[in-house]
Amino acid sequence: MERQENMGKDGLLHCSVCGEPTQKILPFPLMDGSEGTRDMKVHIMCSCEKKERDAYDREQKRQEEMRVVEGLRKLSLMDDKLSQARLESFTETDDNARLLKIVRNYIVNFEKMYEDNQGLLLWGPVGTGKSYAAAVIANELLDRRTSVVMTSFIKILKEVGTFDDDNGKIEKMNQSKLLIIDDLGAERGTDYSLEMVYDIIDSRYRSNKPIILTTNLTMEQMKNCEDIRYNRIYDRIFEMCYPVKVSGLSWRKREAASRYAATKQILEG
Ligand SMILES: [Zn+2]
Repeated sequence: MERQENMGKDGLLHCSVCGEPTQKILPFPLMDGSEGTRDMKVHIMCSCEKKERDAYDREQKRQEEMRVVEGLRKLSLMDDKLSQARLESFTETDDNARLLKIVRNYIVNFEKMYEDNQGLLLWGPVGTGKSYAAAVIANELLDRRTSVVMTSFIKILKEVGTFDDDNGKIEKMNQSKLLIIDDLGAERGTDYSLEMVYDIIDSRYRSNKPIILTTNLTMEQMKNCEDIRYNRIYDRIFEMCYPVKVSGLSWRKREAASRYAATKQILEG
């Protein structure tokens, strides 16, 4: 129903839908040096208008969040395969059932994880689906309009190193509710790189925001590392991240194995 304003018996305009007044009388000073006032009618919102206003504000906020999230999607380092990664496309195998469960629970419980500053450390050999799992978390949360950035230290270092950080990408990255950094340990081990890696992890720690890391390093390599520069990085990570061992055949090996089985079937019957 179209909302109209009709004059009521009290001399004030009323909303035709909810019946509430859309005006009230306020005394205004006369400004003639006297203490006198003059009654004036001013507009007030009725329930319908408040509701409309709230819906409008919510929509504006939603659109703003969408813009931020789309920006973060662009900021993230994902190839085609990773940008498609979703829970739906995450094929469950014997090897990854636990990983899939953890990924799903992390997404569902993200608000709690965020409050507790709880991240994940997905570690295990190359090609077992760590990056894919991390990308599933990133995309599912982005789809729910949670700000997430997924990148790698290699990419960050490259951008910072070339002063390509003109749009404040690092700052935006740090503002996101979840930061995912793929392939820890693949960056160069220079003092400068390691300082940067530590700074990024430590700034998440200090701002009480979670971080998810993937790495091909073994727990042994991280726990028994004798290089003090790495030690303080790993210590922070263990403090912030729940370690998840990702094991199983690498995709490449799995493919080779199934090709072998198929060929064997053809050749040997
Ligand atoms: Zn109304």
